Amino acid sequence: MAGHEEKMIPPTRVLIVEDSLDDAEMDVHLLRSDGFDIEWRRIESEPAYIEALAWPPQIILSDCSMPHFSALRALELLRAHGTDIPFIVVSGTVGEDTAVSLMKAGAQDYVLKTNLARLTQAVKRELREADIRRAERETRTSLQESEVRYRRIVETAEEGIWMIDADSRTTFANGKMAEMLGTSVEEMAGRSLFDFMEETDRQVAQRNIERRRRGIREQHDFRFRRLDGSHIWTMLSTSPVLDQNHQYRGALAMVTDITQRKAAEDAVRRQEHLLQLILDTEPECVKLLDADGRIVQMNAAGLAMLEADSIEQVMGKSSLSFIKPEYREPFQSLTREVLQGGSGTLEFEVIGLKGTRRWLETHAVPLTTSRGRMVLGVTRDITARKHAEQQLDYLAHHDALTALPNRTLFLDRLQQAIIDAERRGRHVGVVTLDIVRFKTINDSLGRESGDALLRSVAERLSAATRKGDTTARLGADEFALVMADMASANDMSRVSQKILEAFGRPFRLDGQEIHLSAVMGIALCPGDERSAAGLMRAAEIARHRTKKQDSTPYQFYSHDMSEHAEEILRLEHDLRRALDRQEFRLHYQPVVDARTRRAIGIEALVRWHHPERGMISPMQFIPLAEETGLIVPIGTWVLREACRQARAWHASGWRHLDMAVNVSAVQFARADFADTVRAALVESRLKPRSLVLELTESTLMRASEEGYEKLAVLRGLGVSLALDDFGTGYSSFAYLKRLPIDTLKIDRAFINDIPLADDSNAIADAMIKMAHSLDKHVVAEGVETEAQFMFLKSHGADAIQGYLLGAPMDAERLGQWLAGHSGK
Ligand code: C2E
Ligand code: MG
Ligand code: MG
Repeated sequence: MAGHEEKMIPPTRVLIVEDSLDDAEMDVHLLRSDGFDIEWRRIESEPAYIEALAWPPQIILSDCSMPHFSALRALELLRAHGTDIPFIVVSGTVGEDTAVSLMKAGAQDYVLKTNLARLTQAVKRELREADIRRAERETRTSLQESEVRYRRIVETAEEGIWMIDADSRTTFANGKMAEMLGTSVEEMAGRSLFDFMEETDRQVAQRNIERRRRGIREQHDFRFRRLDGSHIWTMLSTSPVLDQNHQYRGALAMVTDITQRKAAEDAVRRQEHLLQLILDTEPECVKLLDADGRIVQMNAAGLAMLEADSIEQVMGKSSLSFIKPEYREPFQSLTREVLQGGSGTLEFEVIGLKGTRRWLETHAVPLTTSRGRMVLGVTRDITARKHAEQQLDYLAHHDALTALPNRTLFLDRLQQAIIDAERRGRHVGVVTLDIVRFKTINDSLGRESGDALLRSVAERLSAATRKGDTTARLGADEFALVMADMASANDMSRVSQKILEAFGRPFRLDGQEIHLSAVMGIALCPGDERSAAGLMRAAEIARHRTKKQDSTPYQFYSHDMSEHAEEILRLEHDLRRALDRQEFRLHYQPVVDARTRRAIGIEALVRWHHPERGMISPMQFIPLAEETGLIVPIGTWVLREACRQARAWHASGWRHLDMAVNVSAVQFARADFADTVRAALVESRLKPRSLVLELTESTLMRASEEGYEKLAVLRGLGVSLALDDFGTGYSSFAYLKRLPIDTLKIDRAFINDIPLADDSNAIADAMIKMAHSLDKHVVAEGVETEAQFMFLKSHGADAIQGYLLGAPMDAERLGQWLAGHSGK
């Protein structure tokens, strides 16, 4: 079985170059008898030899010389063939020279035919050595091949490969690496790593190498300097190169060029930075909220509004946490709306991180981002405007001196009390009251003391009433009270008594005791009247009667109190004839430019010369004319006369003068009002833009949609519109914004106390600012002193009207005035 296994090894192929068959067979016999399993061929010519080499033999045994061939020739051919087959010369004795030349030609050994016993041993040895040589050769070629392979990989790599030694000198760099650095592989050899970086980056590189020394492999970005001085950003995968003893011998890096990626990143970063810069100079807050209302981004203005020193303080916080609780619900519903694609505006109050409250107005729109839909809000600080509005609102409803409700609020409360009383079967009483001879007291004590007294009166009256009642100041020394929710009319006597008691004790002023007394008129509902205005009128008639009779301090209204009514009837009768009798005149008051003091306009003010009573103030007869409707023909006359006069002045050279005409609510309400204006313009041939129509807040407040259309028609005619007595009615900012008005005339009530009272100053200033924020021209009325003029001028009022510059005067006197005050 062992023999069978041996046969598995192929026999050794032996080529015998020998002319003698016997000798050849002798060799074979010897080898086989020594245990060799061989396969053999014998040749004795050159062609056969060449052919046999292709067999190929594993060993050649060759005679030295043959008739047609020789060992030397065979060796020569073998070399030419390039194969490493052991060659043993087997011959008779040859000369030493021949032996040497045979060995030189490459024979491994030679065995004398006379000493053939050596043959087997020689063959064995040569076969073994040939094996070793072959193995060596094979390893060498495979090593060479793999080196070639690696070199190819390294050279064609898309990445740079860079090896440095322990002194950071380049031991290897591939072509790609050299190309990245703008140099050649040869240039790089031996060069220090540090030659390829900026001074400023060396420390970082040094630290990196330190980590390599500690055996750490890692990936990081690094900037190299190319040979031409430009930079290249790379990503390095570096690992240390260690020897068998784990000593640091250098480092290897795979290097990727990320310059483009870096440039793109830088561009994005620069863009973001630029955007942030732009947003930060934006005076309005720009913010981005996520779907849960959390702050994602906010500019500098926004941070200031929330009193945050840095974005970190608000980032990720819910915007709701800054919003006052009562505005959270509307804020959330706006957020929901915006997230569904809508948009909207909201006013709300916030409390900043340092506790400051602010009013903000935000406009929110949806913004689709990589993180989903968000809310982009642009927010303005409207605190100043809100305060001005609240101030105006307060002013519109309160008396500045006593802080009591004024007539507007009083009537409102009275109306409400009447409605409540009717529903619940209760009674309402109204008291109007004035102080006896207050004017005399005021004149003798001085205005300041007079004011102080009025404040004390206000206090005592308020103290005399219950909660739910209203005490108001209606005029100089005129007060009124609503007694709401009374069980019976009899309660009213008790209340009147209490009010009288309030005047029972003397008032103290600067150590002085002053006795005041009051006269009152009282009206009741149900009973006397059912409307607030009617009830007020009834109470006033009753007070009038109290004064006349001078016997009791108060009277209840009764229907026979017709005296007042009669008076009114008489006046009405006279008023009806006044137009026909040409008893009306126009007076004119100049309006000057605040900066140049030159006349820029004229206001026409109507006067009634009553044949018996003399001059009657428009304050007295205009309400009556409105009540009776007579204001319409009177107003038309005023309009025509003013236009005619304006045109006459224009013709005399004062072409720049505007003519302002007051328009009553009753006139404005007429459907043909615009036609009347047009007719007056056509008739007078006055340029429309020289005509200013003055309308009051209450007129406009009452204006319906139709009223707005009328304003538009008037604007269409080319005339200007002014809002007269601004501040005395209730004009919200939002409302004013919508009105097509060119000019606001600040009522003289707000000018009076300038510049001595701080609150008046602040109010006037706020009004001017607000008007300018709406692009309206501002005229201040009732300016009587130089100090008022200077204050208003320095706070930006555009034009000034008042006694300081000129009281209302007739046309002739105004002509003279103009000659003195206005260059033509
Ligand atoms: P208004 O339109 O606000 O007119 C300004 C009033 O202030 C005028 O009172 C004017 O004489 C007065 N005034 C002007 N400068 C000063 C000043 O420096 N100090 C003081 N204390 N008062 C000054 P007047 O003429 O008594 O007119 C009162 C109101 O009657 C007017 O207020 C206006 O609402 C109305 N009115 C006058 N004429 C007409 C008119 O033709 N048609 C209509 N519908 N109303 C008129
Ligand atoms: Mg006016
Ligand atoms: Mg006015």
